Parts: sequence; C-alpha cells; structure tokens
Amino acid sequence: LSQYVGFDSITRQIESKLLKRGFQFNVMVVGQTGLGKSTLVNTLFASHLIESKGRLEAHESPRSTTEIHPVSHLVVENGVKLRLNVIDTPGYGDQVNNENCWDPIIKYIKDQHSAYLRKELTAMRDRYITDTRIHCCLFFINPTGHGLRPIDVTVMKKLADVVNVVPVIAKSDSLTLDERDLFKERIRAEMQYHDIRIYPFDSDEYEEEERELNERIRSLIPFAVVGSERNVVVDGKQVRGRKNRYGVINVENENHCEFVYLRNFLTRTHLQDLIETTALRHYEAFRSRQLLALKE
Ligand code: GDP
Ligand code: MG
Repeated sequence: LSQYVGFDSITRQIESKLLKRGFQFNVMVVGQTGLGKSTLVNTLFASHLIESKGRLEAHESPRSTTEIHPVSHLVVENGVKLRLNVIDTPGYGDQVNNENCWDPIIKYIKDQHSAYLRKELTAMRDRYITDTRIHCCLFFINPTGHGLRPIDVTVMKKLADVVNVVPVIAKSDSLTLDERDLFKERIRAEMQYHDIRIYPFDSDEYEEEERELNERIRSLIPFAVVGSERNVVVDGKQVRGRKNRYGVINVENENHCEFVYLRNFLTRTHLQDLIETTALRHYEAFRSRQLLALKE
C-alpha cells in the first residue's frame, strides 16, 4: 500500500526559495577601447533593465573606462529577478608598451575568488555568500579579417586559466558575410593551435543533449556581433539597429549578425552552466591551489 507523502513538491519548494533569493550573474567585458563593449552590454539587457547602480546615466558620464568597476543592474522577467553585474575593463593593448597590461584584469578575477574563499573559511560564515566571482568573460576581437594579435593570444590564454572565456567578433557589420565566416574559421583554428581552452568544456556529467548543444556552440564561436543603443525603423517597426553604407543592420536579425545567438546562449541555454562551471572548475582550481599552499 503506497501513500502519497508529497515529497515531489520539493522542486516547487526549491523554486520558490530560489525565486525569493534571486539570481546573480557577473559578466566581464575585455577588449580594446572602441570595440563596442559598453554598447553590446547595453544592447543585451537594456529592454529588461529595472534599475542600475554604480554609473551615471550614459549621457552624463564620460564613456571611456579608466578602471575596473562593476555596474549592477536588476533585470526582471516573469517574476524572476536577476542581479546582473557588468564588469567593464579599461581597453587593454591600447598603449605603445602593452607589457603586463592584462595584470589588473586577471588580478580582479582572482581577487573575487579569494574574497569568496575567505568568506567560506570564516567560522561564522554567512548562510548565503554574495557571489562576485566572474561567471563569464566576453572577449572582444577586433574585426580586422586577419586574425588574432599576439597580445590577444596571450591575454586569452591567461584569462582562460581563471574564467569562462567567450570570444566575440566586435562590430561585425564591418565585415561582409563571407569575410565574417572566413574570419571566424581562422580565429577558431588559431585558438586551437594555441591551445586556448574556451568555454563550454566537455564533462562526463553532460547528457547527450547537452553535448550536442555545446558542439553547436563551439561551431558558432566566436559570435559575430553588432551592438546598438539606438532604434531604427525597419518595415515600419522600431528595431535595435545601425545604419551603414549598405543599408540597415537589424541587430536582432539572425541573417544580419549573431547577436541573438549570443543572447540565447548567455541567457536561455548556458546561464546556469556558466555559474556552475565557475564554481566547480575555476574557483575549485583556485581554492585547492590556495589550500595546498597553506599546508606547505
Ligand atoms: P568600448 O570602448 O569598447 O566600450 O566601445 P563603445 O561601446 O563605447 O563604442 C565605441 C563606438 O563604436 C561608439 O561610437 C559606438 O556607437 C560604436 N559601435 C558600438 N558597437 C558597434 C557595432 O557593432 N558596429 C559599429 N559599426 N559600431 C559600433
Ligand atoms: Mg566602454
């Protein structure tokens, strides 16, 4: 005789608890000045922004970024609250001497890991530790059509050691579709040649479906994106877009650019996995290195 006891409601119990707490996603943007980093981030989440803290309105503040600083946004969709922290970084590799220009960026990422570890190790630790670890690093590639600069290779490698790296081709409206596909292929080949391990990673835990999805993502990377903070009119409708000499680019049109693929990847399919991979792979590696060093 079996009696219903109701433990199947645990999924709803978890859901309601998580909904109350909300979610947190920390994304960092890295790349040369003027590649459209700030614009893209604003394009990604603008329509759902409820409030933003940490920066003046765009028209009040100088746009160029001189230091690493997080800007916190609250995005809400169907009652789900997402605290989105965007960490803008000063353009690297802009200088004549670019030696070690990536140090502050890597240090920032490691500092968040170390802050988390410190909180974890405190005796009276909080029930819920605020997570400032970077879950995703969008790496902006100059749309030259040629390939990666040596400094890009160096920096991507260093980043990939500590964070989930997602490369994007910036301002891809400056390339024709043929040029774009050739460029994408070249970048993928270079990343493979230099053994740059970018996200997503394979794991034994993934089911067939996840593997296939990741395979598809790997064949799309680097996402060729276009950003815009302006609306243009296409067929009488307002869309996010840019006008150029060939006509109008509709940012959200998959035939024009891969912005929608990137957004789906970040929000619909891989948000949770990016957060989990940060904890299980990058933070765990940091943590065990630190704890081993303590023992010695
Ligand atoms: P950041 O320095 O990397 O943050 O670059 P910004 O977001 O401030 O953009 C620099 C300039 O490039 C601005 O004038 C933008 O309007 C322009 N821009 C941004 N994204 C794109 C894009 O996808 N295509 C083109 N053609 N211009 C862009
Ligand atoms: Mg900027």
